Amino acid sequence: MFETVLIANRGEIALRVLRACRKLGIRTVAVHSEVDANLRHVALADQALCIGPAPAGRSYLDQNELLLAARLSGADAIHPGYGFLSESADFAEAVEKAGLVFIGPTAASIRRMGDKVSAKRAMIEVGIPCVPGSEGALTDDFPATSALADEVGYPLIVKAAGGGGGRGMRIVRAPDELAQAVAMTREEAGRAFNNPDVYLEKFLEHPRHIEIQVLADAHGNAVWLGERDCSMQRRHQKVIEESPAPGISREEIARIGEQCARACRHIGYRGAGTFEFLYEDGAFFFIEMNTRVQVEHPVTELVTGIDIVAEQLRIARGEPLSFRQEDIEFRGHAIECRINAEHPWRFTPAPGRITEWIPPGGPGIRVESHLYAGYTVPPNYDSLVAKLLAHGATREEAIARMRVALEEIVLGGISSNVALHRVLMDEPGFTQGGYDIHHLERCLAQGLGEAN
Ligand code: ADP
Repeated sequence: MFETVLIANRGEIALRVLRACRKLGIRTVAVHSEVDANLRHVALADQALCIGPAPAGRSYLDQNELLLAARLSGADAIHPGYGFLSESADFAEAVEKAGLVFIGPTAASIRRMGDKVSAKRAMIEVGIPCVPGSEGALTDDFPATSALADEVGYPLIVKAAGGGGGRGMRIVRAPDELAQAVAMTREEAGRAFNNPDVYLEKFLEHPRHIEIQVLADAHGNAVWLGERDCSMQRRHQKVIEESPAPGISREEIARIGEQCARACRHIGYRGAGTFEFLYEDGAFFFIEMNTRVQVEHPVTELVTGIDIVAEQLRIARGEPLSFRQEDIEFRGHAIECRINAEHPWRFTPAPGRITEWIPPGGPGIRVESHLYAGYTVPPNYDSLVAKLLAHGATREEAIARMRVALEEIVLGGISSNVALHRVLMDEPGFTQGGYDIHHLERCLAQGLGEAN
């Protein structure tokens, strides 16, 4: 049990966690960097503490500062949100050692599933197919790597075991590019993720990114909450997510969903999690697991009616899941557009002061955002400033509602990718559904939005 949650994050997800805590009557502590004192959740929290200067390494990633803030505020649990320390097994362990509850899986689960190489091994154990590739991390024996690459076949993708956020990946089209790609990814991975391990995968040419949301309690119960199609991507980063995935049968989803729930029971997983797959020619291939709440979780909340963040809190309090698999009903279709503070066509970051913010509304519309007029988006963090969601009885209705919402939305003072989303809602590949992960980049290369 715990009574006070320290929210070790910022922006929209900090606000989302705060709302879930308040709903359950849990006291909240906000921590913020020097440039984040005026964040919305900081104003709403029961207590707020400044934990350091703007660079994340000296604030949101500073484990000692966070633990000190927890002690000073009397917090007895920590919610890490997504990003920052959410997938740090060391942090989860430090939190537990300090006698606090880490709202997430055990450190051992994070260690096992957070490392992409060991996660793939765990999936193979439970019979979930993975993208063909190296069985473990590559060694320094280049002739062996080269032989393995020939066996898997080109094109290949070299990936960092500790990678995330679409970084630490390199496509290799021909054998003469392999040595350099491995060396560069290894170097980058060591620097960015503190883990130089890299591995090889077959590069799939036209897959879709389909992921399964799961919830598991500490009593051995695990359920799957359907899928999200996150194939609208740029540079391996998601731009639009939706559920259900157009054109994939409910039987296929139920089959892979069951396998994911079974995997949770097998590894003793606890909390919310996502199994990510590439889906090509009717087959699912596991790529990685995210051991935390994801940006796009509200898509699933809209179609299932389940409050995933509140469930995370309940699970961390040791409560059993209050519903079974057969109680979960999937209703209608939901779409999320990620609104970033960036140039809509050049994608350069566009921090700055918000002069006007009028979020859209109406039936089926949900906005997750920390924005308000007068707020300044700092240049130091992720560019995501709002998530706009539309829910409808059908995909067509969800798209129609999203179009109206995107026309209504007013975000003044900074550049944002609202214009990109407006164009995408009428783009034939999108409206048809079932587009692959390279679709958006292909559209952009062909001049999508150039008239703007
Ligand atoms: P991250 O942890 O950085 O999100 P993922 O392993 O989840 O990395 O991959 C992110 C994206 O990169 C995928 O959604 C897909 O678009 C692309 N990708 C990853 N592995 C492959 C692959 N083997 N073939 C083709 N694309 C891939």
